[in-house]
Amino acid sequence: MDKTDILSLSLEELQDAVTALGEKKFRAKQIFQWLHIKRVFDFDKMTDISVQLRSALKENFCINGLFVQKRLESNIDNTVKYLYRLSDGNYVETVLMEYSYGRSICISTQVGCKMGCRFCASAIAGYVRDLTPSEMLMQIYQTEADAGERAAGIVLMGIGEPLDNFDNVMRFLELLSHKDGNNLSLRHVSLSTCGLVPRIYALADMELQLTLCISLHSPDNERRSEIMPVNRTYNIDRLIEACRYYIDKTGRRITFEYAVIDGVNSSPEDAGKLADLLRGINCHVNLIPVNKVKERDFRTTRNGAAAFAAMLGKRGINATVRRTLGSDIEAACGQLRRDAAKNDTIGGGKD
Ligand code: SAH
Repeated sequence: MDKTDILSLSLEELQDAVTALGEKKFRAKQIFQWLHIKRVFDFDKMTDISVQLRSALKENFCINGLFVQKRLESNIDNTVKYLYRLSDGNYVETVLMEYSYGRSICISTQVGCKMGCRFCASAIAGYVRDLTPSEMLMQIYQTEADAGERAAGIVLMGIGEPLDNFDNVMRFLELLSHKDGNNLSLRHVSLSTCGLVPRIYALADMELQLTLCISLHSPDNERRSEIMPVNRTYNIDRLIEACRYYIDKTGRRITFEYAVIDGVNSSPEDAGKLADLLRGINCHVNLIPVNKVKERDFRTTRNGAAAFAAMLGKRGINATVRRTLGSDIEAACGQLRRDAAKNDTIGGGKD
């Protein structure tokens, strides 16, 4: 029988599991704290748990750590990028970034991605599987251990579409913010989606305090469908309607992400359409100079993004240009995993 992944369990599930082993319910909270507060991933080191219970835990549960396959540190800023190998030999990427307010960790939510956005490196190597809640948490716990400090913010903007792995991501958020565990306010968490409309409604109804980021990238349906196939299923009108619902329901401002691409979405006409689309919506626009992906020839410069920000500003829309971090270490998501997958068949990287 496969052992249960203990780090993915809610406190209630852990209580049920512990009482099923004939132990008192409060033991579950102790174990939960060893895992999520003290970050101890070896049952033998849980010293206030009886030897008998520890051995029952070892028999029934597992704790899967991540193996650091590669660790790249930027020479220009303090960005660190990790290629982590999962227990089944698959790879994911995690990035530690430094901002004025503190350090932030960008995690992956799936091995690969199904969404197929044309400019994104994650789409190239294809989709393999969803990450479990513990694999998302471990990206944070191990990266924080390496950094020697807690992150001020967590962003779900690495490989994968978080809303395509909805239940696991919701459990991950529950564990990340649990008051008896890691206790990080969801106000410090950003979740980015390419626009899976029904899931945006579902997320809104949960009334979480996280920041929702929408990868918009074009105000024009035809153009957006060309670069983001998801738009053929959920077009811009439906997406904006869902965003309005989200803002109403949660009272939170939305961030629209927009990778500025020469000749694709950065003309004055695009700026005009985008301004018309977003006018009156409680939002912020984050412009990203598109990251170069070897297999694609999309490009922009920082100046191109700044010029587009100015065009939007003139039309009454506030936009900022995202700082490019770790440009010397291929910090654009999906690039390391894709290279590892090329050198190694995916899933075959075990020791
Ligand atoms: N699947 C989610 C989150 C992952 S990507 C989403 O689509 O939002 C995080 C952000 O980086 C998204 O806005 C995505 O569109 C953007 N992105 C992907 N590839 C990029 C590239 N080459 N240059 C700039 N931004 C890119």
